[in-house]
Amino acid sequence: MGTEIRGWRVWQLQDKRLTSVTVDSVVYEPRQATRAECMFPLGSYLPVLRRTGATFHRAPSERCTCGVYAMRSLERLLREFRVSDAGSNLVVGEIKLWGRVIVSAAGFRAEFGYPSQLYVRDPAAQQLLGVYGVPVVVAASLFGWKARQVVEALPTATPEMLEHFRPLRGNILNEVEHRIQGHRGRIKALEAEIDRCENWIAVLKQALS
Ligand SMILES: [Zn+2]
Repeated sequence: MGTEIRGWRVWQLQDKRLTSVTVDSVVYEPRQATRAECMFPLGSYLPVLRRTGATFHRAPSERCTCGVYAMRSLERLLREFRVSDAGSNLVVGEIKLWGRVIVSAAGFRAEFGYPSQLYVRDPAAQQLLGVYGVPVVVAASLFGWKARQVVEALPTATPEMLEHFRPLRGNILNEVEHRIQGHRGRIKALEAEIDRCENWIAVLKQALS
């Protein structure tokens, strides 16, 4: 068993159970690890598998698309999955991943997963999800806001808005840090460019004098 990893994903709330957004029949049962199964027997990934030469295997595989999916960060999840546009039965959450885990730039495909914290739009959903035995937070703001938008709104945020953003705070910090790093990188590149230009000016001045 590999090291435990945490990622972010969305589920649907259907019949008091968390289910996959893309495959309705994949249910995350309460108090029970969800183990990924390769969809190969269903044939839905057959073209991909033919191309890669993969055979039926323990999920996930490098050469397949199977696994419990999760994004690297909430910010990334919100950016790539339009939570605000999706149905009201949507649940956002942090998920523990373990077993075999395949890492990509965007996130993870894991052999096992279980939610560690859930975020819902309304108190009714919070009630229903109690059976999972993990914290369930009502965070309506999460479904209308993206971390990036929050960062942009922060300078003008009212105390009420800040209270709404509280569940997002770790991700807001990540987003701000990410931006600062981006700016630092750009400043470095610009400084290098200025140095190059100055060198050229010096060379040209000498050549033309
Ligand atoms: Zn597979």
